Amino acid sequence: MNTPGVQGGMAKRYAIKEVFATLQGEGAQAGTPAVFLRFAGCNLGYEVCPWCDTDWAKADYTPDLAGTLQLMREAAASGFGGERPGLLAVVTGGEPSLQLDRPLADALRERGYRISMESNGSRLVDRTLVDWLTISPKQAEFVQREGSELKLLFTGAHAAGITPDVEAVRRMAHGTRFEHYYLQPIDLPEQGGPNYDEAIRAVMELGPPWRLSVQTHKVAGIP
Ligand code: SF4
Repeated sequence: MNTPGVQGGMAKRYAIKEVFATLQGEGAQAGTPAVFLRFAGCNLGYEVCPWCDTDWAKADYTPDLAGTLQLMREAAASGFGGERPGLLAVVTGGEPSLQLDRPLADALRERGYRISMESNGSRLVDRTLVDWLTISPKQAEFVQREGSELKLLFTGAHAAGITPDVEAVRRMAHGTRFEHYYLQPIDLPEQGGPNYDEAIRAVMELGPPWRLSVQTHKVAGIP
């Protein structure tokens, strides 16, 4: 497991890559005002996900709980003029389930946040810590098989990956229980951008409940 910056000792410290205010870009919550809390550290890594577009390897901050809340407060102040009730706290990574714990979840909720986690599904998530759970598995086998939305990246025919075709998508989703099912194009800059065409064809072949997830933040040019 690769979780840089988390130390034992007296006060727990969180390994954080960045905290920023924006709009959630993907999935059913797209367009929602959010403060992103991006943790450093991932239990899978670039060998499993060669197209990973997140720099999670090194923590830029290792604050304790109070310091983490201060980073959230500063981001909310710069983006929204303060911590408004109902703001999404998008806990992501890396793999956020390695770090989100009860004290942090309780403190975020006390400040009015709804907690949305985006996890790779390779670890069981304590659902009582989150108000929304997006699972975006990066391996054919994953253990967290229920939640708010399942979001599969469609690697398609031209990228190495676990979802080359609709049959692979069906196999991965089989026996899962999610409220929403999304197929998302994979962004391959070296191939000219997201593979919209083959992802759209795949969603049309899959039919309901599958929907296309577009990374609207990239379209809109926001973080
Ligand atoms: S699980 Fe997510 S954060 Fe970790 S390497 Fe894969 S794509 Fe990147």
